[in-house]
Amino acid sequence: MRIVLLGAPGSGKGTQAKLLMEKYRIPHVSTGDLLRAALAAGTPLGLQAKAAMDAGQLVSDEIVLGIIRERLRHNDAKKGFILDGFPRNIIQAQALDSMLHNLNQPLDAALLLDVDFDALMQRLTGRRTCENCGASYNIYTNPPRLDDQCDRCGAPLHHRADDNEETIGNRLRVYDAQTKPLIDFYRNQGRLESINAVGEVQAIFKRLLVVLEPIAKGVRKLKLPPPSPVKSVKGKPVAQPVVLPVKGKLLPVKPVMSPVKSPRKPIAKVPPKKTLPKKAVAARTASKKSAVKSQPRAKPAKSPAKKTRGRR
Ligand code: AMP
Repeated sequence: MRIVLLGAPGSGKGTQAKLLMEKYRIPHVSTGDLLRAALAAGTPLGLQAKAAMDAGQLVSDEIVLGIIRERLRHNDAKKGFILDGFPRNIIQAQALDSMLHNLNQPLDAALLLDVDFDALMQRLTGRRTCENCGASYNIYTNPPRLDDQCDRCGAPLHHRADDNEETIGNRLRVYDAQTKPLIDFYRNQGRLESINAVGEVQAIFKRLLVVLEPIAKGVRKLKLPPPSPVKSVKGKPVAQPVVLPVKGKLLPVKPVMSPVKSPRKPIAKVPPKKTLPKKAVAARTASKKSAVKSQPRAKPAKSPAKKTRGRR
């Protein structure tokens, strides 16, 4: 199963992705996590990404696409993946489509985790994670038993550097301007599913499974948008959307051109040419010549456009 998790920062993509990874045994691929790991390891790529990440801006498409391309080549991604935090703009979404098209492994769905603005702020400012075992907490809604200490493994909890109010504001603005258009992008592909992501983690997970189980069982059909009316231009080919069944799923494919059928005109019958006897032909040409001779010669009209070039 190949899915994209869409949603604003703080919508719970990471939390749900971890649960989905356990359920379906497919890797959770988070570009944010990969970039943070590169930064922590002090790689040139991580250092390049640092400034944008600290400011809550997007890291360049070139870097992110390189990371994703490399990650999806791993063996564990062959049976599927959950993408979290990628794609973040239309260019990345188109690049992902063409990557997956080349692998003949199209996306199954894009799941939008829908959360209102106030809930996002509370989630982001209160978020704490355990860097040792990956457990996540929220000091307002799901606090650890001991302050700043993981319930599961006792390691100190971490507050992400970009989870401060100023950077959060930037990240939400970037989401609105660059990532939100992906909702329409995937809706137009018939791949979008919107899930109410406010409430208990397990309740949201159940809502996700309602959508994902039919996909996992291979019985879900893509909700393709209604075809736009086909305009016919007289005599010209018309593009018609075609849907091909592939392994029980419906996939949109490029429109193909089919010629417009126009009613055939009856072919007019041409009468056979009459051949004149030789004598008659000679008489006709003689009379034409004499008619030309008897007419006075007309003076050729001067053309105003023609200018005679003077010699130098
Ligand atoms: P996240 O953990 O998904 O919130 O990502 C943290 C930061 O990493 C973002 O604010 C961006 O600076 C950067 N980042 C993560 N994913 C992407 C992406 N797909 N494109 C560009 N920048 C990204």
